[in-house]
Order: sequence, then C-alpha cells, then structure tokens
Amino acid sequence: MRSFCKCDEQEIALRPKTLSDYVGQERIKNNLTVFIHSARKRGVALDHILLYGPPGLGKTTLAHIVANEMGSQIKVTSGPAIERPADLAAILTKLQPNDILFIDEIHRLNRVVEEILYPAMEDFALDFVVGKGPSAKSIRMPLPHFTLIGATTRAGMLTSPLRDRFGVICRLELYSDSELTLIVKRSASLLGIEITDEAAFEIARRSRGTPRIANRLLRRVRDFAEFEQSETISLELADKSLQSLEIDSLGLDVVDRRILDSIITKYNGGPVGLDTLAATTGEDANTIEDVYEPFLMQLGFIARTPRGRVALIAGYKHLGYPIPEEKSEQLSMFEKKDIDED
Ligand code: ADP
Repeated sequence: MRSFCKCDEQEIALRPKTLSDYVGQERIKNNLTVFIHSARKRGVALDHILLYGPPGLGKTTLAHIVANEMGSQIKVTSGPAIERPADLAAILTKLQPNDILFIDEIHRLNRVVEEILYPAMEDFALDFVVGKGPSAKSIRMPLPHFTLIGATTRAGMLTSPLRDRFGVICRLELYSDSELTLIVKRSASLLGIEITDEAAFEIARRSRGTPRIANRLLRRVRDFAEFEQSETISLELADKSLQSLEIDSLGLDVVDRRILDSIITKYNGGPVGLDTLAATTGEDANTIEDVYEPFLMQLGFIARTPRGRVALIAGYKHLGYPIPEEKSEQLSMFEKKDIDED
C-alpha cells in the first residue's frame, strides 16, 4: 500500500493557517465562516463537524484552521489510536470549554468507544457504571462544551447514530487545476522555489486534484531542478521531471495505469469486483477505493457498477487500446447513465 505520510514536517509547514489562505472548497469555507462567526459572537462551542473525502484534500488542515479561527485549542487523535473507552474518557475529561477534538479516520473507532461518544457529543456528559451486579450504579459526569471534528475517507462506513450527531457535514471535492496552481505557487514561495506560471500549472494538472500530491510533486521537481543547477523551474523541466517520475500527461501514475490496464486486459473491460482487482494489481482494496478510484472515475476512465468496476471508452483511449466492438455500444450506454453506485 502506498503511504501518504502525514507526519512530514515540510507538509506541516505548508499548511495554511487561516480560512483566507485555504484555497478552494468555497462552499465549505463560506459555511464555516458563518458558523464560526456566529459561535464566536455567542461565545459558544461550534457544532460538531464531519469532514469527508479522499486523502490529501485538506481535512486535517481545515480542522486546525477552524481551531485557529475560533481561538480554541485543538487535541488531535485518530480512530485506531483510541483502543478502549478509558482512552477516550481520558481525552474528553482533559478538554477545556470550546476546545476542538479532532479524530482522524473516525470510521475506524471501535463500537464500544463509539458509544461513549454519543452522550459526550449530544449532552456533553460521560456515562459510566460503578460497581457490579444489583448494586451497580450509573453515574453521569458533565464535560465541557467542546467541538468534535471527525475526518474520514469513507463516510459510508460511519454508523448512522454517529453520523446523525454531527451538526455540520462537509464533503471535500477534488481541486480544479487552477486551484492547485495557486497551491503550487503558494508552496513554492514558502519553500523559496522559483517557478514559472506554466510549470506551476503543469504540476497542478498532473496532481490528481489533490493538494498533498501537488506539494509532493513540487518538491520532487525541485530536486530535479537542483540536480540540473537550474534556478527556476520551467515548463520543460517540470515536464521532464514528471516523466521521469512516470506521471503521465493527465497525472496518472504507475498504479493508476496498472489498475486501468488490468480491468481492460485481464477482465475484458469488466465488470470486476474490488477484491479481485486488488489481488490482481497487488494493491490494498481500501487504497484502490479511497485513493485511485475517485480520480479514475473523475476522469471518466472507469465506473463503479453494482456488478463491479468497468473500464470506460475514455480509459481505453488513454491507454491506446482499441475499443472492442461488442463493448462500444454497452460502454457508451454506461457513460450516459449515472452508474456510480455510491
Ligand atoms: P487530509 O487530512 O485530507 O488527508 P491534509 O489536511 O493533511 O489532508 O492536507 C495535505 C496537505 O495539502 C497539507 O499539508 C497542506 O499543505 C495541503 N493543503 C490541503 N488543502 C489545502 C488547501 N485548501 N489550500 C492549500 N493547501 C492545502
């Protein structure tokens, strides 16, 4: 499984700190501006917020920005890190009023822990049982009013009681080329890298709509520039470097192409089930679903159908395969219908 390391110090340094520095996601930013303004004016904690979307789109960044804009402290943890109810209780009882608790990968919380969260989110209370048998007593301990910000790549895996307790639910979208160009230029200036507008655009449009990838590619292209002792990153240098990194003209990398190629050549264009595809390509099924498919679907190269994944005409064309005659009618029908099963 390819790692999308979040602990990279350079990445943290590139994180915007305010909503005005945060590029794109306009609808989410506008809504949050209103909610933050209102909560601050009334001196209360913000409603709980759920952020969902593929990795690297800025969920963690947004959680820190919300804390910053609220003037609140943020405590960061993740679903898998909270193993027992006592771990969560320890975190909750240390919170101050209006603090933000950020739980990344919230879909991976175990059910027992999740049940502690319900009264904490709804009534700002911690319920626990003291003693055993007939003398057992349920005790309720009040908690300060805090804001839970949950982040997940898979909102569908959240239980409905948990999902229903979030007052604000935001779905982050893949970024446009022009938004990513702004991000590349902003990061270049923070890292002291000179880059032409055309080169920034080239990196942006080959970054699969994802700021984390744009920043990563910028740093790799910078390495090539340093190696060639070139002071400015030009379009030519960006293109050459990205080719060396096997990022094609649309931003597909080796794994994207392997997935698409497998569907076309090994399964006659599909449908093929996710687990079979994972076994054939040697990739983790969750990674295929969270990282690769959203981009391939956005390009119109593949589709999810109830029977599995299918390659679409644009996908055949991109890899230079002829479209089998018996498939062409069926595929164009697929492309006209909304077949995304989500
Ligand atoms: P996620 O939590 O969704 O996986 P992160 O918040 O860790 O993503 O974002 C990854 C990196 O991308 C951040 O370090 C930040 O530099 C950059 N980034 C994300 N969103 C934006 C944005 N809207 N504007 C500028 N940079 C961003």
